[in-house]
Amino acid sequence: MVTWDEFTNIATNCRKCRLCETRTNVVIGMGNKNADLMFVGEAPGYYEDMEGLPFVGRAGQLLDKMLSAINLDRERVYIANIIKCRPPDNRDPDAAEQEACLPYLKCQILLIKPKIICCLGRISAKRIIGENFRITADRGVWHERKGYSLIATYHPSALLRDEDKKRPAWEDFKNIKRRYEELTNDGR
Ligand code: URA
Repeated sequence: MVTWDEFTNIATNCRKCRLCETRTNVVIGMGNKNADLMFVGEAPGYYEDMEGLPFVGRAGQLLDKMLSAINLDRERVYIANIIKCRPPDNRDPDAAEQEACLPYLKCQILLIKPKIICCLGRISAKRIIGENFRITADRGVWHERKGYSLIATYHPSALLRDEDKKRPAWEDFKNIKRRYEELTNDGR
């Protein structure tokens, strides 16, 4: 198993797919490397690519608000993406790009060993929970796999586009907090 330093060095210099030609920064992830709760989004956008950090744009601000509403913050959880480099014009990452990048996420999961992994949005859920995942029908449902509790909710960008998704997403966050407290005895 690699160390965090080895992992960071390899990922930062990655040239496994064409996104390396257009990126400004590799966005590896941020937060607590011993987190019990990990969030996995899709791919960096413009601001994330500029800053080298995940979820720093409008969607990230909403994610921070939702975390704060369940008494958590970026120092207590870990936040990463399926894809570590920004796809030009924020298009969906293609299958080859996802395949190339997935080993990095797997490595992060092995290093962090979170108890709970929350997929943010369809692309993340399809990769982590299953190819047939449908975000509207299947969000909010727990899957136990290899010692991890997996769940998916709407991507924060989807909540910015559609107010009606905010209530179910909030139910998911409360559900996640309940499981987090059960698994960690952390009632804060
Ligand atoms: N959307 C994502 O999926 N990830 C980010 O880091 C930012 C926006």
